[in-house]
Amino acid sequence: MDLSTYVNRPLPCACGKVHEVPIRRIEIGEHALTSLADFVQSESWGRVLVVDDDRTGAVLGDTVTAALKASGADVSSIRFRLPSSHEGEHLTADREAIDLAQEAIGRAKAAVVVVVGSGTLTDIGRYASAQSGIPFVSVATAPSVDGYASTVAALQFDGMKVTKAAQAPVGIFALPSVLAGAPWELIQAGFGDLIGKTTSLLDWKLACHLYSEDWCQASYDLVASSLNECLTLVDRLLVRDPRAVEALFKGLLSSGIAMAMMGNSRPASGSEHHCSHYWDFLAYKKQRRHGSHGMQVGFATYFTMQAYEALALNRGLREPEYPEPDAGWFDEVRNRWGVAADEVIAQQSDKRAWIRQREKPVTWGAHAQQAIVDALKTELSGLADIRRALALMGLSTSGASLEVTSDVLYDTLVHAREVRARYTIFDFWAGQGLLEEIAQVICEKATL
Ligand SMILES: [Zn+2]
Ligand SMILES: [Zn+2]
Repeated sequence: MDLSTYVNRPLPCACGKVHEVPIRRIEIGEHALTSLADFVQSESWGRVLVVDDDRTGAVLGDTVTAALKASGADVSSIRFRLPSSHEGEHLTADREAIDLAQEAIGRAKAAVVVVVGSGTLTDIGRYASAQSGIPFVSVATAPSVDGYASTVAALQFDGMKVTKAAQAPVGIFALPSVLAGAPWELIQAGFGDLIGKTTSLLDWKLACHLYSEDWCQASYDLVASSLNECLTLVDRLLVRDPRAVEALFKGLLSSGIAMAMMGNSRPASGSEHHCSHYWDFLAYKKQRRHGSHGMQVGFATYFTMQAYEALALNRGLREPEYPEPDAGWFDEVRNRWGVAADEVIAQQSDKRAWIRQREKPVTWGAHAQQAIVDALKTELSGLADIRRALALMGLSTSGASLEVTSDVLYDTLVHAREVRARYTIFDFWAGQGLLEEIAQVICEKATL
């Protein structure tokens, strides 16, 4: 897939929009550092701050610095320290890290930040550069998340995971040999984030079928083709074939591009991401440890796809009602969500208002369930392959390491929909009064 066709130009689309992706250059290949040096030179930035950490610095940061210096740039650097006992991502994108990066930008009088790293480090550089009013370039070292192309940064302020407006990188560069050498848990996580699009796409299509949600076939196809390709990669990912790891990375970037095209995360985040957010919230409450985003998303997909498979059991569907909640619901939300309760209440109020105002093309009753199954036929027919891929990549058996017990899973399936206004399969079953029953059935089958 040639991603360069999506960047640096307006994209008139059959959906009626002209999509704009705010990335100017994407280069993935063993020559990527030469392209990076050319790019930095052609932009006449002059002063560059390279941001890396102990691991990514040794793997690639020093080489990046040397390449930029050789092309005439004035290069400073800041290297974050990692605990030496573990591999993988253990850096936190917190205020302290952001402050350190911003101080370094100021000291270097940098005109651009070049981040050499994966998700967390990229978010530190993304946010600090945006705060300092300068652009940033991403040199990716692991295919671990779909967020490289994102405009928002996932940060952790006062122990709480938050998403803050920041900026997309102006350029993304990666060497397949470096991506393939990333710690295995980061490759696994990237696969988890990508395979999670299975239910992101299903949720999107379901909302289109029931509530005429905005649709863009090009964005859908971009994510769906990346997802389908990643399913063919499993055997080669297990032996870290650089071309397979490169394809995984491109698939993740494609998801990021699809989100940029839509201007929101609908094509790449649905019920499976809501489960992951719920687990992040439990970690914030110290009821479990923080887990990696992609591992959580992959694990959640194993269950959100079962919520779709439950459509196979035909029941006469009733027209769902979304009445204003009673006082008991507000009490329950305050008990469960504490500091996040106001946000949950606002998101659910937005969801009810959204459903009310949408056009509803569906006729409810005896044939409604079959009509939904028909509308989702292509996606539903692929779920057996998804299950196999999750198992082979070690993503469906990670309940213990993610500290998700059967009780936690039940609460997740019933309450994850509360974190966002976005309509998903959980809202569908809730609208039928069957969410608790479906959650119970899924939990009984789970080996946790
Ligand atoms: Zn994700
Ligand atoms: Zn479109």
